[in-house]
Amino acid sequence: MTTAEHTHSILPAGMIPVEEARARILEHFHPLETEQVPLLDAIGQVLAADVVAGFNIPPMANTSMDGYAVRAADTAGATHATPRTLRVIGWLPAGQVYEGAVGPGEAVRIMTGAPMPGGADAIVPFEETDEEERPRPPVGSAAPPQIAFRANGPTDTVRIDVAAALRANVREVGEDVQTGEVVLKRGTVIGVRQVGVVASLGLDTVTVHRRPRVAILSTGDELLRPGEPLTPGKIYDANATGLAAAVRECGGIPHVLDVARDTVEALTARIHEALANCDLLVTSAGVSRGDFDVVKEVLAREGEIGFWTVNMRPGKPLAFGRFKGANGHAVPHLGLPGNPVSALMTFELFGRAAIYAMLGNPEGWQRPLIRARTEHRIASGDGRRFYARVFVRFEGDSYVVRLTGPQGSGVLTSMSLANGYAICREGGPAIEAGQDCDVILLDPALAHLPHKSAHS
Ligand code: AMP
Ligand code: MG
Repeated sequence: MTTAEHTHSILPAGMIPVEEARARILEHFHPLETEQVPLLDAIGQVLAADVVAGFNIPPMANTSMDGYAVRAADTAGATHATPRTLRVIGWLPAGQVYEGAVGPGEAVRIMTGAPMPGGADAIVPFEETDEEERPRPPVGSAAPPQIAFRANGPTDTVRIDVAAALRANVREVGEDVQTGEVVLKRGTVIGVRQVGVVASLGLDTVTVHRRPRVAILSTGDELLRPGEPLTPGKIYDANATGLAAAVRECGGIPHVLDVARDTVEALTARIHEALANCDLLVTSAGVSRGDFDVVKEVLAREGEIGFWTVNMRPGKPLAFGRFKGANGHAVPHLGLPGNPVSALMTFELFGRAAIYAMLGNPEGWQRPLIRARTEHRIASGDGRRFYARVFVRFEGDSYVVRLTGPQGSGVLTSMSLANGYAICREGGPAIEAGQDCDVILLDPALAHLPHKSAHS
């Protein structure tokens, strides 16, 4: 296939809807190779293989209560008025195995989690015995379980005030998980509620799709790195840091390159540096119509690139293409607009989806979409789809949004105050104050939201 054909295939004509741009981009992203990683490092990664139980959980029948392990038959008919008395032959902490067996008329004092002693078939909790009236065993005593109370004469027996049902308060072998069972399916996203069950299987690693390495390249002669002194005509590079944070939020590994100056040599060198070790190259600036042509020129010369006009505001111009990577594989390239709000917004709508696709979690990029009443009029102005920076709060029994400030594509302060993007659809009417609109919810924690499912 020639470059020209390729370029054509990634270059839709005219203004394209956000969804179409995303779909076209996603055709070029697939789950990355698998790797085995330490369990805690895998948070946000996706299982590439089922997690299968190598043994039962619990591995042995054990007690769910502190109490006495007994033979249920020995407690038949027991009540507070007509208690039974059993001989205590030992005590058993969690983590140890009782060597002997509980015979007729006998009991073992047992702590939650300790394995059922042989011969015992029920647990009578302390509350149903005279435990409170008995002297306590030494706390943390290192005495082997078989010894315990034997020396204590009068405490050698226990009063049982209730008839125990067979297997009462016993957690059975394999009650939670059986040997060979699939505990977590391939495709599961590893998170806080998943690592525990993996650990309980004795596993300290999982097999997941590796995290994408994302090279981030700011372009422009006007850019200074934060930390450098401000000089006339210059501005600080806001995009690299914001985009790196966004990459990390999705679970990718950002790699910020030095700013590329607007010369063919500088840009070419930076791009080659980036391609040496990345799965995705994200650049900002240099893709809009009025740009210094160098950026477009270099992108087009070094790879297959399409310059798109996406029906959205902020962030109309977008470049998407592919470069030849160090190992011969094609490296996708997402060329974002330079204005900082546009850069973040286009990354939100396109970059996140690409990263999640590489992680093996194709739906993961989606945020909750809620309906909210707007306090301000929200209007696109030029008919493009408008993503307005808003603050979402929950009031009474519904969501309310207000604009966070001026909506220019360079205004980062209104971005910094936003926890959502209200959507005014392309070609549609303005959303008047008091009307409802769709809102992408970015940070539910900030809005003090109630527990409510709000996924689109
Ligand atoms: P361009 O796409 O190069 O025309 O850039 C559009 C606008 O975004 C210009 O005002 C640039 O100065 C600004 N811009 C480009 N890159 C950055 C950046 N990394 N940080 C902050 N502003 C930027
Ligand atoms: Mg520029």
